[in-house]
Amino acid sequence: MTHTALRDRQHDLVDEAHLVAQKALAPRATEHDRNATFPADNLADLHDAGLMGLLAPREVGGRGADLPAYVAVVAELARACGSTALIFAMHCGASRLLAADESPATRDALARIVRDRQVIAWGFSEPGTGGNILAPQLTASPEGDGVRVRGRKVFCTGAGHVDHYLFNATSGEQEFRRAQTMLLVPSGTPGLGVEPTWDGMGMRANQANDVAVDALVTPAHVIGGLGGGMPLLAHALPALVLGLAATSLGIAQAAHEYAIAHVQHRVHANTGHNLAGYQGVRMLIADATAAVHTASLTVQHAARVAETDPLDALDAMNLAKYVANRAAITVADICMEVCGGKGFLRTSPLERHFRDARAGSLMGANLGALRDMIAKSALGMDPRTD
Ligand SMILES: Cc1cc2nc3c(=O)[nH]c(=O)nc-3n(C[C@H](O)[C@H](O)[C@H](O)COP(=O)(O)OP(=O)(O)OC[C@H]3O[C@@H](n4cnc5c(N)ncnc54)[C@H](O)[C@@H]3O)c2cc1C
Repeated sequence: MTHTALRDRQHDLVDEAHLVAQKALAPRATEHDRNATFPADNLADLHDAGLMGLLAPREVGGRGADLPAYVAVVAELARACGSTALIFAMHCGASRLLAADESPATRDALARIVRDRQVIAWGFSEPGTGGNILAPQLTASPEGDGVRVRGRKVFCTGAGHVDHYLFNATSGEQEFRRAQTMLLVPSGTPGLGVEPTWDGMGMRANQANDVAVDALVTPAHVIGGLGGGMPLLAHALPALVLGLAATSLGIAQAAHEYAIAHVQHRVHANTGHNLAGYQGVRMLIADATAAVHTASLTVQHAARVAETDPLDALDAMNLAKYVANRAAITVADICMEVCGGKGFLRTSPLERHFRDARAGSLMGANLGALRDMIAKSALGMDPRTD
């Protein structure tokens, strides 16, 4: 496909996402946030639009989109509803991992997920190791004809509301970081228990609950075989990391758009000019504009690098998540400042963006871990070492 054709296709996908986001997601965002309800209706609309299969290959009924198109779509969804964008990003990241495994069983599973309008959650965080995806303590070990999966995942977006869980586990003796086992566990599996722990200050609709696991699964549920998950994880990681970065970007964009409109329309009776007439407000708008623009370029750049060479994209991905997570927090804070009391009211979407913006930097890789890796890389040290 030529560069122009690729760009046109990306624009088409973003237009489709924009339509669903503004028609369906945006009008429901306040209610889902207020009641912390899982946005199943939004996901049904995304299924109808064919967007839930965005990162699934065309051979299994998906859209076969590339990462630059994907991050643009995620940001578009996040502009309307941060929680839905996050659920979507987890599902797409998991789809990309399944797509990397060419075994007929996994192909069939992914085809069924696309065809039957199913949703996948991605549980990597654990009570013992936080959001460090490279250090799972969930175990997967052979037992009879199957595989025993034991442990606990925490903060698993969509838990209790999805059809499948993608888990990463250790299979014992394999060396840390070199080997992992990836499991696709259906929601009704005996021994899989969801605990409704979620009551977040932001991203309230995403229902990131705990999952306790003591289940016997069949070998077909082990994606890539015992200890064979690392290459699949490496292929899918950009969709996970950049999906989180793009969610932050979309939230920053939404806050920025809200503030731009507000400072143009709000006029002080004594001066006769709008808030934009104050130089102090314009300076803050400049800072927010620069942060949004930088995040957008950094996320798109990382998506292009990761699309070309996913195994050599770690630095670009870390920078993108760092810049976008920080941009969301900074921009939401600036926008709250210039919008005054109006933005602070719960009737304004800005207060939701403000709370939602806080989640990104806590999510793996958290801001501290990102800064450590970015600095090590800048200093010529290996960012993959502890
Ligand atoms: C809204 C939301 C949705 C989520 N959805 C999912 C999901 O779908 N799937 C999933 O698996 N997880 C999910 N998570 C979990 C998330 O990815 C993190 O695992 C979780 O927030 C970590 O919390 P913790 O208390 O264990 O952090 P801790 O590991 O205790 O870390 C606390 C803080 O310590 C510092 N820190 C930790 N490690 C390092 C380090 N290596 N270097 C420097 N500083 C460090 C950071 O400041 C960090 O924020 C979600 C979290 C949130 C908030």
